[in-house]
Amino acid sequence: MYFEWKEFPFRHPPELDGRRTRYDAAIVGGGPVGLAMALSLAQRGVRCVVLETQNQVSSGSRAIGVHRRTSQFFDRLGLGGPFGATARPRGRNVIYYGDQLVAETIMSGRRKRSGRSS
Ligand SMILES: Cc1cc2nc3c(=O)[nH]c(=O)nc-3n(C[C@H](O)[C@H](O)[C@H](O)COP(=O)(O)OP(=O)(O)OC[C@H]3O[C@@H](n4cnc5c(N)ncnc54)[C@H](O)[C@@H]3O)c2cc1C
Repeated sequence: MYFEWKEFPFRHPPELDGRRTRYDAAIVGGGPVGLAMALSLAQRGVRCVVLETQNQVSSGSRAIGVHRRTSQFFDRLGLGGPFGATARPRGRNVIYYGDQLVAETIMSGRRKRSGRSS
């Protein structure tokens, strides 16, 4: 593999020993959608559990571009501040392979229109 994935050790949940815990919602998948849903529900007092099959977190680039609407969701979830502190305005794009910077492009101003209609 090109870089080492950070793995998190398995933590034995008490439910596997027969203990019953009641949740209002079960979310399958701890990707951005599942985690945003879990955070949103928790902020509204809904008790939920996230079931994720992987024990790793991807540390490579997955968000070269984040649209304005996504930023609005970040704000609503209370993530806008931390996210804005590390995000770069479009004009400089960086790509990571693991924790290694492999590409960076700088855009200097707007491209001129070619005159063709498209
Ligand atoms: C290289 C790359 C670059 C990208 N760049 C961008 C970008 O610039 N901008 C952008 O907006 N998007 C980008 N994307 C897309 C973005 O990563 C996806 O749109 C986003 O991850 C989708 O989120 P999701 O939560 O729906 O799914 P996922 O991120 O796929 O999460 C699903 C989760 O569910 C888990 N899961 C699956 N099945 C089960 C199961 N049966 N039980 C328990 N857990 C399960 C998986 O392990 C996974 O963690 C990129 C994707 C890749 C691969």
